[in-house]
Order: sequence, then structure tokens, then C-alpha cells
Amino acid sequence: MKRYPLAGPSITDAEIALVTEAASDGWYENAGKYQKIFEDEFAEYLGVNFAIALPSCTAAIHLALLALGVGPGDEVIVPELTWIATAAPINYVGAAPVFADVDRESLCISVESVKSCISSKTKAVIAVDLYGNMPNYERLNALCKSCNISLIEDAAEAIGSAVPLGKAGTIGQIGVFSFHGSKTLTTGEGGMLVTDSSEFAARVRFLCDHGRSPGDTSFQNEEVAYKYKMSNVQAAMGIGQLRRIDQLVEKKREIFSNYKQFLSICSGTRLLEETGGVYSSYWMTTLLWEEHSRTNKFEVIKQLAEKGIDSRPIFSPLSSLQAYADVEKPDNQTSYSVGPYGVNLPSALCLSRSDIKFISDKVLEIFP
Ligand SMILES: *Cc1c(COP(=O)(O)O)cnc(C)c1O
Repeated sequence: MKRYPLAGPSITDAEIALVTEAASDGWYENAGKYQKIFEDEFAEYLGVNFAIALPSCTAAIHLALLALGVGPGDEVIVPELTWIATAAPINYVGAAPVFADVDRESLCISVESVKSCISSKTKAVIAVDLYGNMPNYERLNALCKSCNISLIEDAAEAIGSAVPLGKAGTIGQIGVFSFHGSKTLTTGEGGMLVTDSSEFAARVRFLCDHGRSPGDTSFQNEEVAYKYKMSNVQAAMGIGQLRRIDQLVEKKREIFSNYKQFLSICSGTRLLEETGGVYSSYWMTTLLWEEHSRTNKFEVIKQLAEKGIDSRPIFSPLSSLQAYADVEKPDNQTSYSVGPYGVNLPSALCLSRSDIKFISDKVLEIFP
């Protein structure tokens, strides 16, 4: 039986040539060369002052919180519907996550809910560009500014997306990206932290290399810190992928528009769509359906798997997870009512239009 993968990259001879080159000459006087090229080209692509290559987006969020001075006793607001990597680093630094509800239409963090979550302990908000979509940043930015709260943008899933305010990842004081194998641009594992602030950039460079200044060879560490680095071979892969980013994003958008065409007659369902001035890079095409149909997402995933179709549940509310059993349950009605009724459809970059047609036909059998 043919399998239809949920996610996966597009790798060409260009990436393979760069990785081969880095494996043979990314050493000696060229140590750090590929990381520097990747960072410079990434910063230029986004139009930001600084880009710092890291081993993962999780590490990037950890360092972002540290650079902003978040620590024990502080609260950080995150949306309910996201991958746990958005929230886990809040615990790493000894602060407390506070879960905000999402907007029904965008599935991104609700500005109204953020407002109600703000307390005297709130130090930062981490907004998430879920599945390539983006929240209402004009209002969120204004709210954070007026309350003197930092904004971190988790753009792990949204390279190539944009709102009128700017490209995904450039909206807050610090933006972060993931290059995990499932993401639109991949280095296998990897991440990037971007910022316009020289102060934050310097702090992150210092913290990611065991608390020493860049170029230090005397081993005079000033603080106990972390070792978060990307390798030359990963960076070479990233350079090759970044040079094809417009093509990768265009392919993701094409996958979405094919689903939209084939599923237009699918009753009681909708696709998560760009709205309110968002240009989405559609990392994942996401199918949502009416609560009253009562078909749970795990049941739909099982039925699709029987046809060789790989799908994933939309995120369950973080506050519902065992991992956060000790957190007081907030009354986030939208997250809890939408959460059980949505799946990510196969959105791998290898899928063809006829693959999408096949998948859509099977979805239509479930939602006639
Ligand atoms: C993938 C992802 C991350 C984590 O990325 P890693 O590189 O795996 O650490 C963080 N946030 C969101 C929203 C993600 O989808």
C-alpha cells in the first residue's frame, strides 16, 4: 500500500553539494564558516540585524527567555494550542507558564485572553504562528508595549509567512525558528534565534557557548551557561534550503490550494485559512470540523491510517496534558471545544496533486 507522509522535506542536489563541501572543508581555518554564511543569509532574508544558529528551536526559546531576564517568580503567557516546546523552556528558567485561549478562526493566541492573563508577575508573551498562520500582532504588540511585557514570536512553523507588520519571526523583540525534519526548511535538527537588538544578540552568543565571549580561547568562563551550537554540516544544509525558500513556501501553498479545491464540498468542515491580512506559508494543511459531528480527531486519524494516509491531531490544550497536571485549569473554552476536532492532513513537500486528490477523496468518505 502506498503511504502518504504527513511531513517531510524537499532535498535537491544543491543541498547535497553544500553538505558534501562542508563535510570535506568545514574544518581548520574554515571552522564556523558555514554557520556564519547561514546566519548572514538568514538575517538578510528576514531583514533583521542578528540571526544566531542553534541546535533546536527549543534551545532558541530557552535562550530568548534568559536574554529577556525571565526567571523564578515570573509568569510567561503562551497559547493553549501549540507544541509543548513553546512552553517547556519557561519551566527550564524556573518561571511559570500561563495558558491563554486561542481565537476560533485563526487558532492563534487570543489578544483578549492574553489581556485577562496579565498579572503583576507577567514578564513575557510567547505568541505562536500556528501551522503557518499568524495571530493579530497589531493588537498584541500594542498590548505588550502598553503593559511593558516582552514579546517572543515562535515562528517555528511559519518561515515564509507574513503580516503587514512584517515577516514571521520579526514581530517581537526576539523571533525563533525550527529546522526539525518536519519543518518547511530543514537541517535535520536545528533552530535560529533572530533579533534586532545587539544587546540580546550578544547575551545569546555568550549564553550558548558556556558563558564566554565569542573568540575566547583562554577558557575564562564568566558564568555557568549552556552549549547550544549548530554544526557546520547542518548549517550547509540550511544554506541550500534557504536559497530555495521561495520554492518551498510556494509548494506548501500549492498543497493547501489543492486541498481547498478538492475539499470544497466536504460538509461540516473547514480548512484553517489565512485571514486578516496574513500571508500563510501553510506548513500544515489543517482540517477542522463541527463539534456536533462528535467524531474525535483520533478516530479520524485511525480511519485515514487504514488507507495509508498519515495525519496528526491538532494540538490538545497544553493545560489538559499530564505534563501540566499541577497547573490550575484555566477556562479556555475555545481551545477545549476546538481541540478534539481537527487534524493536520499530509503536507509533505514530496506530495503531488494526484496524491492530494487521493487523500481528499478518502477524507470525503469520512465527511461526505
Ligand atoms: C517544532 C516546534 C518547536 C520546536 O522546535 P525544535 O527545533 O524541535 O526544538 C517549537 N514550537 C513550535 C510551534 C514548533 O512547531
